[in-house]
Amino acid sequence: MNLKDKTVTFYVSALAVLVVVLTAFSALSFRYFSSYAAELHARSVAETVKVALTESMIHGTIDKRRQFLARVSHVPGVRQVRVIRGPAVIKQFGPGIALEQVDGQSAEDAGVVLATGKETFEITQIADELIFRAVIPYVANDHGLPNCLQCHAVSTGAVLGAVVIDIPLAEKRRNGLIAVGLISFAVLLAALAGLGVLRRMMNPLSDTAHAVQEVTAQAVGGDFSGRIQQRSADELGAIAQNINHLMEFLDREVTTIRTRVGQLMGHHLNDGGNQLALTAEMVESLVTVSQFKQAIEEDQTKLDIYLRIAEVLGQKYDFKRFSIYEVAASKNRMTPILIDDEVGAACRYCDPQITVDSSFCRARRTGHEVNAIEFPGLCTMFRPAEAGDSHICLPITQTGSAGCVVQMVISADHAPLARLLAPFIAVYLREAGPVLEAKRLMEHLRENSLRDAMTGLYNRRFLEEYIGTLVSGTQRRKSSIAVLMLDLDFFKQVNDTHGHEVGDKVLKTLADVLLRNVRSSDIAVRYGGEEFLLALMDTGAEGAMKVAEKIRAEVAATKVPVAGGMLQKTISIGVAEFPGDSDTFWQIVKFADVALYAAKAGGRNRVVRFTPEMWDVNAHY
Ligand code: GH3
Ligand code: MG
Ligand code: MG
Repeated sequence: MNLKDKTVTFYVSALAVLVVVLTAFSALSFRYFSSYAAELHARSVAETVKVALTESMIHGTIDKRRQFLARVSHVPGVRQVRVIRGPAVIKQFGPGIALEQVDGQSAEDAGVVLATGKETFEITQIADELIFRAVIPYVANDHGLPNCLQCHAVSTGAVLGAVVIDIPLAEKRRNGLIAVGLISFAVLLAALAGLGVLRRMMNPLSDTAHAVQEVTAQAVGGDFSGRIQQRSADELGAIAQNINHLMEFLDREVTTIRTRVGQLMGHHLNDGGNQLALTAEMVESLVTVSQFKQAIEEDQTKLDIYLRIAEVLGQKYDFKRFSIYEVAASKNRMTPILIDDEVGAACRYCDPQITVDSSFCRARRTGHEVNAIEFPGLCTMFRPAEAGDSHICLPITQTGSAGCVVQMVISADHAPLARLLAPFIAVYLREAGPVLEAKRLMEHLRENSLRDAMTGLYNRRFLEEYIGTLVSGTQRRKSSIAVLMLDLDFFKQVNDTHGHEVGDKVLKTLADVLLRNVRSSDIAVRYGGEEFLLALMDTGAEGAMKVAEKIRAEVAATKVPVAGGMLQKTISIGVAEFPGDSDTFWQIVKFADVALYAAKAGGRNRVVRFTPEMWDVNAHY
């Protein structure tokens, strides 16, 4: 029940009670006053009769009393007046006339009063008429002149007789009821008028209360467009005005905040839903994104960043199945970095073709979001793991194109939520883009500064920087490193005969041969112009001799096409072993070089294992 109905109901109930109480009270009052008035009336009639009879006795006209007694019964407002002689009077003066004797109706009442000397008043029904009957005794007294004892032969206090006076009450009652009815009617009219006024007064209050209720409920739902009509210039008007100002302020400010946050997020909220809750959520996301950005900027490697993206996907947004691909600098290949939290796993939700030719990946090729929830079957490379699976692929833009692709695999029941979450994830990825790009550049620069541009092998600087780490690892494992020094035989001739370009080509071919013959844990270094060093990890001299021999043989057998034919070159190799030959790595490098010279001196195209005598012989080192 609303405020207005409640107030009106309360008012009507209160008035109903008031009218009932008032009517009952009036009715009772009238009843009391009509009895009281009848009693007074009866007393005065009794007194008048007594005076008249006494006067008649004194003046000797008592025999003429019949007419008086008959006429007194016709006084308006009196039904009957009957004087009844008591036993003493009857004894002294006889039974009297008919009007002085009891009739059937008054015999009982009169008998009691004559016997007790006490007056009685009662309301009684006589022949369908409501009658107030007073029976008042005349008691003998001896005071005053004349007094009773002058005529009556009785003692003081004797009951001489009684007067029965019947007063009809019907008219009094009717008048009373009319008065009560009029009072009640007047009260009812006043109440109805009051109700009308109350309703009129309640209207602005209840309308304003209703409007406040609606507008605030709307505001709780994030909609601040509701306004309240200002109905009066009092406190209610002030409430309406204040709420309208508040709503205008909230509407304006929340819209501004939403727009600004939307700009920052690069994602604009549509106008559906609870705008306040969505804006708060976006602000919260902005804070989290900014913390995320700070964290990834401080991360050391790209993998750290990918793992952090995986954490956002898996823990914050509950995507348990996802892939993170990195697009190679050449842009042709893309490599799966993380699949469902598994580092370096193979393609799981895509055709592996994309790893060989990344242009098959739609997100990579277009640089745009691929949302298969909105457009099923958009990317033909998607391989669902379960029926109903869909996917959203988001590119991470680096230098204007997709440097990475993040794929979220979504089950049918998660799809509606995923659609809402995708823009938030896109914000994280947008922040990650430049940071990944910077890390990539750093890694690239570092890689470049440690590699020889022409052959792609490590340079001498790399060896100088990393050999400490490699050596300590080897010592910890109590293992060994074999060092091979390699130098092409009569290489100068190549340049002289075929030109520098052919010389370069021979050097590149040699680098390929070296890489083919070593393990990925080994280190191949272009040590000088046409001089190379191989550090074979966890390899002793014996194993190294075999590798060296294999390389030597392969180089000798390699034919490099040149203008007018094929070019074949040979190589000399010196071998030493750390820590077998010396516990100082650089000393081992020198020993390998000494062995290389021995190989040259021995006729070239051969492998020579370092022996301590060589060092003695070449004491100039
Ligand atoms: P040996 O059998 O005694 O080693 O004879 P060699 O001719 O190979 O020896 P030498 O040290 O006299 O010559 C090395 C030549 O390698 C000199 C230089 O012109 C050439 N060379 C060094 N670096 C490069 C390079 O990057 N490109 C080319 N084309 N030639 C290079
Ligand atoms: Mg040489
Ligand atoms: Mg040389």
